[in-house]
Amino acid sequence: MIYLDNQASTPLAPEARDAMLRHLDGPDGTNYANPHSSHRMGRQAAASIEVARERVAVLLPAGGQVIFTGGATEALNLAIRGSGEGKVAFSAIEHSAVGDTVRATRPHHELNVDQDGICDPAQKLPADTSMIAVMQANNEIGVVQPSADWDRRAKEVGALHLVDAVQTYGKIQVTEADLIAVTAHKLYGPKGIGALWVRDGVRLTQQQSGGGQEAKLRSGTLSPALIAGFGAAAQVAADRMEEDAEHTKLLWSRARELFSDWELNGSGEHRWHGNFNIRREGLDASRLMSECRQIMFSAGSACASGSGRPSHVLKAIGLTDKQAKSSIRLGWGRYTTLDEIEEAARVINAAVKEQEAWA
Ligand code: PLP
Repeated sequence: MIYLDNQASTPLAPEARDAMLRHLDGPDGTNYANPHSSHRMGRQAAASIEVARERVAVLLPAGGQVIFTGGATEALNLAIRGSGEGKVAFSAIEHSAVGDTVRATRPHHELNVDQDGICDPAQKLPADTSMIAVMQANNEIGVVQPSADWDRRAKEVGALHLVDAVQTYGKIQVTEADLIAVTAHKLYGPKGIGALWVRDGVRLTQQQSGGGQEAKLRSGTLSPALIAGFGAAAQVAADRMEEDAEHTKLLWSRARELFSDWELNGSGEHRWHGNFNIRREGLDASRLMSECRQIMFSAGSACASGSGRPSHVLKAIGLTDKQAKSSIRLGWGRYTTLDEIEEAARVINAAVKEQEAWA
């Protein structure tokens, strides 16, 4: 099997796994205390959480606080629901964790993207905009937004700037913002743990009441093992950021050659090179998926694999339904090899030829 679905989730880094096992087992099997208890075992668990918090924070701007959550969806909900009632301007290609939450809870304005998938920071904003949400890189097409310009624009209009940095955290420098959502499982860490970074001075209201953990913003007992895994993954990412980016770009260059007769969806220039969303006229992408079962990739037309929801992202960049249904997304990362890219291209291109022969 060849795994090319790194935008959906990444393999667990061995360093993250080791850190988690150490926290589950403990040196003498006694590492199960509640990190919010004030006895010695509780304080040990709390200390390991603080070490991980520092590691997670290293990849985020200075001058803010890391609030652990159950993932980015929860972090984004806390940011959007917890930051007041004013109008939210959000890009047409935000993940549903932003788009659906904004639509359900706040007055809103959708920001356009161009055919490359770029959301232009010079575009018109409603006068009463109180929050701007433009993700740093898109999960479907990998396009990287001019986030620093959006941050300046937000400051000019006096709006809070929320960035969904799920796809970029630990891979490219995360932008300045007021609120940043991240998650461990796109960074070779475990699923079920993420964080909201909150700039000092930004006021949020809690969205669930209880024990008042995480600066009274996110009640609930923290999981030292998940957080240790997140911290270890962040530390490895910080150490290898350049090396990982180079490796990703190498695979990108080879993939461009191997799929040279496919069209790229989204900007070729402003992008994370681990995301390859491509289309080919007349292709039935969902049939292709069933014909290439040994390759784990996704049909570009679906918002989330298997959701059946058509991609609002491909629509927003101007693709027709037919073009969207002829699109696939290949996503590679740190542990993908050149041989795997070669083999995936061989299998996919052979299946495409077969489809075309019978068309
Ligand atoms: N935002 C983006 C861009 C994503 O790709 C995802 C995950 O698919 C999320 C948010 C949600 O993250 P989580 O799975 O941690 O809730």
